[in-house]
Parts: sequence; structure tokens; C-alpha cells
Amino acid sequence: MNTSVSLSLRDVHLAFGRHRVLRGVDLDVARGGTACVIGPSGSGKSTLLRTVNRLLEPDRGDVLLDGRSVLRDDPDALRQRIGMVFQQFNLFPHMSVLRNITLPLRRIRRLREDEAVTRARAELDRVGLAAKADARPAHLSGGQQQRVAIARALAMRPQVMLFDEATSALDPELVKGVLALMAELSTQGMTMVVVTHEMGFARQVADTVAFMDAGVVLEAGKPESVFESPQHPRLRRFLSQVL
Ligand code: ADP
Ligand code: MG
Repeated sequence: MNTSVSLSLRDVHLAFGRHRVLRGVDLDVARGGTACVIGPSGSGKSTLLRTVNRLLEPDRGDVLLDGRSVLRDDPDALRQRIGMVFQQFNLFPHMSVLRNITLPLRRIRRLREDEAVTRARAELDRVGLAAKADARPAHLSGGQQQRVAIARALAMRPQVMLFDEATSALDPELVKGVLALMAELSTQGMTMVVVTHEMGFARQVADTVAFMDAGVVLEAGKPESVFESPQHPRLRRFLSQVL
């Protein structure tokens, strides 16, 4: 994958009414790098991801792709460059797996039907689900459904992938396969921001681990330093609870 970009958040602020949820977030992800965002529930992790692909607009600060602000881009065009995978897979239940992937390629990317099908089959193959093209999502395991959701995002050829607790809704035995796929994407050079509770994944796959607390990145660094020698007492407390 050679289309990756670097991603930077600069002093991003966002409030819902009087509730200040992001209070000056800074985060840098190198081109082709993987940043894992960890932190307690309610600290603003999902809100942070949503400001990156402009499902939410920051009140202040900037989001840069390869040094260029995305805030003046057309949001729909931007979302074609940034793939997002959610905890809930959001597949259309009444369509085949293949159709779930070709539909956005047809509607948004304006591919011809044969091009869309070819690309969708290639992405299904990549996530190990070529044999499930004609199945309905309900006939797949949660892990397989999430891999379809990832294939659907990848088929759009994004420059950045955002994952918001992509494995949190899965039965424990299905988590591994999805994490392995995410690790593979990281190895292949996709630029990724991964919000996760999977500390083992963060430790092994991330270039940067960012700890969020109360709307700021309180501490960020290499996984070794964040996990082995955390500086901030709140990070130490968080790690003692989750590890
Ligand atoms: P996290 O993903 O770290 O658990 P979120 O970003 O989802 O945290 O939420 C951070 C805070 O913002 C929470 O207090 C949440 O209730 C609040 N919040 C999130 N989305 C909205 C919204 N659309 N309207 C109002 N408050 C929201
Ligand atoms: Mg969240």
C-alpha cells in the first residue's frame, strides 16, 4: 500500500454544548504508522476519531493529512480517503456480503459493476472470506462480519484507516482473527489510528501509543515507554486496572 499519508491532530478542541470533550488533543501518526489510542471510557477516544473524518467538526485546532488541513475539504470527499471501522459492523443485513462491498464502490466511487465486483472479490480474498461472497451477513460469525466491514472499507482504497474498538463486540474466540488482520494491514504500511482495549495488540503493533484522559492525550510514546515506564500517575493507574 503506497497511498498512505501522515496524520496530525493539532490542539483539537470540541464541545457538546457546555461539555468540553476534547480539550486540546495533539497526536502524530507517521506515514504508514499505527497509533493506538487507549484510555478510560468517556475520555473522548471515539470523538477524536470522528473529528478526523469530519463526522464531527472541531471548534478549534486542525487535522492535517500530509501537512495539509482537511478542514476545508469537502467532508464526503474526505471520507473516501479515510476508512472507518466501528464496534458494530453496520453491514446491510438484507444484502449479500459481496453487495455490501460493491454498493459503496458503485454509488460513491462510481465504478462499473464488473470493476466493483472484481475489486470486492479481491478484498474478500485478502480478508480470507472469498468463499462467503454470496452469504448474508447474519450467516457469518461476528469476526467474519467485522472482516467484511474491513474489506468494505479497504475496497475504497483509503489513505488512512480508523478503528473504533473494532473487536469489543466480538466473542473472545473471534477477537484474534480480526486483530491479526489489523496487524497485517499495519505491517503492509497502512496509516492507522486504532482505539482499543487490547493492550497486547497496542504493545506489539503500535508505533505510538497515546493515552487519553478527560479530553487530552496525557502521554504518548513508543509502546515500550508507555507500558514499561509510564510517567503520568493517571496512566499508571489505568494500566494497573487493565493489565
Ligand atoms: P470514549 O470513546 O473515550 O468512551 P466518547 O468520545 O464516546 O468517549 O465520549 C466522550 C464524552 O463525550 C462522553 O462524556 C460522552 O457522553 C460525550 N459525548 C459523546 N458524543 C456525544 C454527543 N453526540 N452529544 C453529547 N455528548 C456526547
Ligand atoms: Mg468510544
